[in-house]
Amino acid sequence: MPRHIVCLTFDFDTQSGFIARGMTTPTLLSRGEFGLIGAQRILALLKARGLHATWFIPGFTIESHPAACAAVVEEGHEVAHHSWAHVPPAQQSRVEEEADLVRANEAIAKLTGRNALGYRSPSWDLSESTIDLLLAHGFRYDSSLMGADYWPYRARRGDVAELGKPFRFGEQTALIEMPISWSLDDYPHFEFVRTAAAILPGLQSARTVMESWLDEFRYMQQAVEWGVLTYTMHPYVIGRGYRMLALEGLIENLQDAGAVFMTMEEAAAEAQARMF
Ligand SMILES: [Zn+2]
Repeated sequence: MPRHIVCLTFDFDTQSGFIARGMTTPTLLSRGEFGLIGAQRILALLKARGLHATWFIPGFTIESHPAACAAVVEEGHEVAHHSWAHVPPAQQSRVEEEADLVRANEAIAKLTGRNALGYRSPSWDLSESTIDLLLAHGFRYDSSLMGADYWPYRARRGDVAELGKPFRFGEQTALIEMPISWSLDDYPHFEFVRTAAAILPGLQSARTVMESWLDEFRYMQQAVEWGVLTYTMHPYVIGRGYRMLALEGLIENLQDAGAVFMTMEEAAAEAQARMF
């Protein structure tokens, strides 16, 4: 029997990503604050559709906006790890990275009663230590790499990439990688960002983006008997009205097409049982 799984994932960053980039003027911070409104809308939509999703919540958001995070837990969604301060691991020393990892896990344990089993790195940029640290701290899956699309795979450590030499794969670990893609992330499609160095134009048609996202599911149905497709969204981005309408349309089309919706923790467990 073919089985095609969809994971809806929400990175509930609120202001953390702005602060991590030093963007702390009132208007920039307010863009992150809008995520509190977006989250309410997403929770209502998921409830109306009877769906459970995975929320990657930084410790910053848990401690700054406890009621909004408690609402996510009350609705039965999975809470997974997304750092404390939203600083990408690739920019941290191993000691800094581990301290942030532990601090965020403490915030999650206080919120949900247990440590997170899943991790997604801020800005999708792992350090050379990340996989080791995740294994040492009891994580079962990561969702930060792009080496596949529909099939989870085992995260590796110790890959060797040196200029002028062939690439060498490191050893596979027990950590399950739930792969992601910028093309299936709302941020680059929609968010307008202007800095001194660059402009990210964003602001695309929400319905056009959702058509592409649905096509990705349709192709998965053609390409594999069993697979997992992960969409990544941010409440402050997807929470605008016209994007919420488009998301609702996507969910309806996915349900009509036979998608099996799961939390990432559930999908990782199924992948583990089925594939490895
Ligand atoms: Zn994030």
